[in-house]
Amino acid sequence: RSLPIDPSDENRPRQVAGACFSKVKPMPVENPKLVAVSSTAMGILDLPESEFERKEFAEYFSGNKLLPGCDPAAHCYCGHQFGYFSGQLGDGATMYLGEVVNQKKERWEIQFKGAGLTPYSRSADGRKVLRSSIREFLCSEAIHHLGIPTTRAGTCVTSDSRVVRDIFYDGHPIQERCTIILRIAPTFLRFGSFEIFKPVDSQTGRGGPSIGRKDILIQMLDYTVQTFYPQIWEEFSDDKMKMYIEMYKEIIKLTARLVADWQAVGWCHGVLNTDNMSIVGLTIDYGPYGFMDRYDPNFICNGSDDGGRYSYKNQPEICKWNCMKLGEAIQEAVPVDQTKPFLSLFDEEFSKCYKDKMRKKLGLLNKDLPEDQELVEALFSTMEETGSDFTNTFRCLSSLPLPQCEDYESKKAEILSYLVSQSCTIEELRKANRSTMDPRQMQMLMMLMQTNPDLLSILGRRFEAFEKELEKMEKLNELKDVTQEQKTSKDRELWEKWIKKYSDRLKLEAEGQDDILLTNQNRVKIMNQNNPRIILRNYIAQNAIDAAEKGDYSEIRRVLKLLETPYSGELDIREPSSSSNSCDINQSYDS
Ligand code: AMP
Ligand code: MG
Ligand code: MG
Repeated sequence: RSLPIDPSDENRPRQVAGACFSKVKPMPVENPKLVAVSSTAMGILDLPESEFERKEFAEYFSGNKLLPGCDPAAHCYCGHQFGYFSGQLGDGATMYLGEVVNQKKERWEIQFKGAGLTPYSRSADGRKVLRSSIREFLCSEAIHHLGIPTTRAGTCVTSDSRVVRDIFYDGHPIQERCTIILRIAPTFLRFGSFEIFKPVDSQTGRGGPSIGRKDILIQMLDYTVQTFYPQIWEEFSDDKMKMYIEMYKEIIKLTARLVADWQAVGWCHGVLNTDNMSIVGLTIDYGPYGFMDRYDPNFICNGSDDGGRYSYKNQPEICKWNCMKLGEAIQEAVPVDQTKPFLSLFDEEFSKCYKDKMRKKLGLLNKDLPEDQELVEALFSTMEETGSDFTNTFRCLSSLPLPQCEDYESKKAEILSYLVSQSCTIEELRKANRSTMDPRQMQMLMMLMQTNPDLLSILGRRFEAFEKELEKMEKLNELKDVTQEQKTSKDRELWEKWIKKYSDRLKLEAEGQDDILLTNQNRVKIMNQNNPRIILRNYIAQNAIDAAEKGDYSEIRRVLKLLETPYSGELDIREPSSSSNSCDINQSYDS
């Protein structure tokens, strides 16, 4: 930090022990301008749309002026980052503003992200730039309208104040606009909020700043149960230990349900550190997130995640691991041996919710057969092999009528050609499997591996990355002489095979139903309610960002509107999908 630190400044960065919050003040910005507002999110606060037009609106939602009754504070939390305990690390970039009780008597917490320094900013500046703020703003709202629990984003305000995030190769700094978003949630407490009590970690030698403060831990646990789990508070308040265990069980279940929701729409969080895990099961912190285009179980949306710790397929296991860390964080109040046995609830709840989602996504509603799981797995391997678009594949399947319907054959033909057309091209498949590692480095590592297999395990995360690269190399080798025609014909064969399987299963759906048309209508309705047509693809967010960087906010507002009704409208299956427009996710990422 080049700035001198004023010891009387309440925002000055420091280690803070024995406190969950520190008072702060938002830092003013120059010339705040409203980029976008989510009227549905602001509606939670009973704020009418007429307010958005007022001149002072951007002043209030940039932090230049404080809303009446507002009492800003930054929250102190810890966390495990990429598997390792990092001690006090947050919240250096957000500020609690206060709580609003709306006309429905609901209590909502509001906060700024990017309003400047807090005691927890470490060596950073507490600012956010336009691109990362737009990404968070749009995706919070997209995830909410998909029906997935999340923190909300109310406003996005940019300014003429600048910060530097990147430097050109010629040493020229890139100045970016300081941008502030308003976030809204029942609470922003995270697993990491409880990790300030974590005893010294044997791996990293770090402990939480509030080690041994069982008194504060109890106070925070009680607050959490009483406020967010009131039924548990009512039922178990005479046996505190039991009460905390019940809360822990509930958090495990809510977390499992949340991940099942993410998996079902092909969404990847990207940074599933314990400090990004909500205590009430919300999606929290939109950094390098991504919706998958082409289905790939190893999809990684975070450029710094070499080992793929936070890949799509790892999300459930990682969230379960995080739940274990929450149990360890509260061990001063509940011994670990009393929480750990309940971790198995995660698998139970996840499997149940995931299965339920998949049944709705495929319209398998009237019968629950053991072989359905195999049908779902076969779909995923077909999607993977053909390189199909996750979202469009599911959405298109609702156009396939039950085989007993008159138009089944003609629709089937239409769907088959759509499925084949939206599978990725051989060129895209080759590109996806191209190694990002230096070929000479790869060769050297391969030689080393032959002579000394232990050496690579010492490399840890790097080793996992290397193994992935080897897999890609193998795949690329397989693809070497394959032509586009051969791929297309293989794709068609694979899709025909799966559609046959699916149709056989759909026949059973109609069994025992007297009105086939009605049964089909109901099935299509439920499928469409569970297979979004519109998701926030990366290139869509990027287009909105590019326009906004030039001062044009109309694209963000247009996209937000579309994201509000993701399940409506018709997928045009006569048009091939546009997913190949996707661009590099890390372009826009600023933690
Ligand atoms: P994340 O990996 O995005 O969850 O960030 C972890 C923590 O890093 C946050 O809780 C913040 O405390 C801190 N942080 C991230 N970005 C900034 C920033 N621009 N200024 C200060 N602190 C930040
Ligand atoms: Mg975070
Ligand atoms: Mg973040």
